Amino acid sequence: MKIILMGGPGAGKGTQASPLVEQFHFPHISTGDMFRAAIKDGTALGLKAKSYMDAGGLVPDEVTIGIVEERLALPDCADGFLLDGFPRTLAQGSALADILDRLGMKLDGVINIEVAEEVLIPRLTGRRVCRQCGASYHMVFNPPKEEGVCGQCGGELYQRSDDTVETAKNRLNVYNSQTEPLIAFYEEKGLINRINGDQPIDKVFQDILKALA
Ligand SMILES: [Zn+2]
Repeated sequence: MKIILMGGPGAGKGTQASPLVEQFHFPHISTGDMFRAAIKDGTALGLKAKSYMDAGGLVPDEVTIGIVEERLALPDCADGFLLDGFPRTLAQGSALADILDRLGMKLDGVINIEVAEEVLIPRLTGRRVCRQCGASYHMVFNPPKEEGVCGQCGGELYQRSDDTVETAKNRLNVYNSQTEPLIAFYEEKGLINRINGDQPIDKVFQDILKALA
């Protein structure tokens, strides 16, 4: 099974990756994880990626595309893989199509986990952090017993300045404008499976399995 897992900030994409890997026993290829690991290990790729990140920029497409091609060419991907976090733009999508052609591979499907913005905003802005001990809570997923009070040390909980509604809306807008043309590209190929992400985690997973069956 060769699939791409897509979903914007707060959609729960990360939560679905591990049960999918358990189900299909394929490699989980996350470009974010690959960059973090390469940076940690100090490899040539890691140093290159780090130089862009340190300069405040994104890793350029040709670097990302290069590591994806190298990774997909490894023998463990021959029977399947889960691509996570790549492609994110139409340009990356067409680069991936070229890579798959060169490797003689075909995608089985693209999973797009969709959640309405009014559901995503509380998910993305719900984090609260303890001023005293740094414990982290979430108003939707992991609320404190007493509002505004840390259950571990009694400290005051606050909202970080980058967890605001404005920041969340901005992240969603950037994500949507990048991915809409990509989704249309896969739609045209008949590969898109739209999954309702506003459901319990298990139900989302079952819907993904049904879509892939
Ligand atoms: Zn605390």
